[in-house]
Amino acid sequence: MSGAILDLSKETIPDGVSTEVCVIGSGSGGATAARLLAEAGHEVVVLEEGRDLTGPERTQRDGPMYDQLYMDRGGRATHDLSVSVLQGRVLGGGGVINTCDVVPIPDGVLQHWAVNYGLEDYAPSRFRGFTDDALSDLSASRIPETLVNPANAKLRQGAEALGLRGEVMMHNRVGCRGLGTCLIGCPVHAKRNPRMVALPKAIEAGARIFTRARAVKIQKASQELKQIDVRALDRGGYHEKEELIIRAKIVIIAANAVSSAQLLLRSGIGNAHVGKNLMLQPQLPIIGVFDERIAAFDGIPQSYAVTEFEQEDNGEFGLWGFRIEGIMGTPGIVSSLLPFSGAPGMERMAQYDRMAPSLLLAPDAPSGEVEVARNGRLTIRYQQRDNHRDRLRHAVEAAAKVYLEAGAREVLVPTVPALVIRSAREAEQARSLRFAPATAPMISAHQQGTVRFAASERDGGADLNGRVYGTRDVYVFDSSGFPSSASSHTMTPIIASSRMLTSKLLTRI
Ligand SMILES: Cc1cc2nc3c(=O)[nH]c(=O)nc-3n(C[C@H](O)[C@H](O)[C@H](O)COP(=O)(O)OP(=O)(O)OC[C@H]3O[C@@H](n4cnc5c(N)ncnc54)[C@H](O)[C@@H]3O)c2cc1C
Ligand code: SF4
Repeated sequence: MSGAILDLSKETIPDGVSTEVCVIGSGSGGATAARLLAEAGHEVVVLEEGRDLTGPERTQRDGPMYDQLYMDRGGRATHDLSVSVLQGRVLGGGGVINTCDVVPIPDGVLQHWAVNYGLEDYAPSRFRGFTDDALSDLSASRIPETLVNPANAKLRQGAEALGLRGEVMMHNRVGCRGLGTCLIGCPVHAKRNPRMVALPKAIEAGARIFTRARAVKIQKASQELKQIDVRALDRGGYHEKEELIIRAKIVIIAANAVSSAQLLLRSGIGNAHVGKNLMLQPQLPIIGVFDERIAAFDGIPQSYAVTEFEQEDNGEFGLWGFRIEGIMGTPGIVSSLLPFSGAPGMERMAQYDRMAPSLLLAPDAPSGEVEVARNGRLTIRYQQRDNHRDRLRHAVEAAAKVYLEAGAREVLVPTVPALVIRSAREAEQARSLRFAPATAPMISAHQQGTVRFAASERDGGADLNGRVYGTRDVYVFDSSGFPSSASSHTMTPIIASSRMLTSKLLTRI
């Protein structure tokens, strides 16, 4: 039996849907679980509040693409506006708008989880097969040298001249044409993401996918038959329209670490750990400005990383240190990150084709919390820690030296006030960056930890099968369960983890 995609903004709302399994969220975690369960013969319904936006509808224009592909149209942020919290909101989730970096959970982190948090299923020897399957789902391969664009090549040139360790990254593209707009969707479908792999297989195996379907509450969580209250959204996804109730024996929440906790809190489900332990992995942009044309918008935006300063087996934190990753954004993204407006802003944007930007990625310890008020309003609280500020200062200094070594005329740190570095000596000014709230354009793409997995209810929000404490068969299968930062990128870890948790579930149902 083949399933289907049903867009609730257009189709007649079905009456009283019942299913064995309801998966909430169609991204890396949800699509993977839906596929494996459907392929094993189970009845599956997937709820996705985004729309299925494919091919020419991905217009490569900032405004409409942020509007349709990102949660809160790209405007989600922490309570003090210090960190922009980016999440996908489209059929296929974040994999549709990400930069395709494939970075599995390092063995050091897996070992850290097994030893310090009792997550034995994640011990490297037990987890390896799930990572291998995730890499196969993603058609993962090393980015060919010919696709490393001049901006990433500058980062590499500077790093190699300084003797710093780095690598051309792995990715999940097949048939990439180097159009450069990965962050606002790939119009030629070169990304082997959940939309292109797991969801078609789930549908082929009979799964029904409801798009523009927002789960607003889960009721009867401790009973055999759960009730999920759903709102159909209008075509643009702006307003809630009709109501729909879905009944399911098993509910798998994989809505992203922020939204999964939000739904649990809104439903009044789970213990005091739900919503706590939030990690955002805030990243800071930095820009090398060259005299010659770089055209960083041509080709794959992110292909080279300086890994010299990253620690993958830190005894206290697991993943620690920092890494420097080449990146480029569309003009809309870059201009919104620059701390200039008016004439100075225009002057800077006139250098767009000579910029080689990077993101400085420093993993964090749990430092935040997801809250939901009585009226349903979401607040993401986050307190940047001193140890995060210190590593970012170090990262700015190191990245500036790398760009200068590669011949940059200057290096721009887009803080308020902006820091412009023109010599290795001036790079030391990074040591006095304050990072006061909302003075640096920090970005989070890797939210984790809000329903931490733990063997005991005392230590976490869900058990080692991903079951939310206090419920009968309500699970979280995304990065909500990760007790510390999984990796420098979360798509591969989430797919591998969802594969492992689903395979365990399949032995019990
Ligand atoms: C800009 C950006 C770049 C990134 N780059 C990379 C990268 O290069 N490599 C990498 O490994 N990772 C990257 N990531 C991270 C990675 O894409 C995410 O960690 C991953 O997609 C998360 O998977 P998920 O299944 O947890 O949730 P998502 O993929 O976020 O999917 C959750 C889905 O649930 C839906 N949803 C939420 N709430 C509800 C609800 N109440 N009802 C119904 N549906 C709901 C959302 O619309 C969304 O589509 C990036 C992320 C972003 C935002
Ligand atoms: S760079 Fe490749 S994957 Fe990214 S949008 Fe362009 S063609 Fe698609």
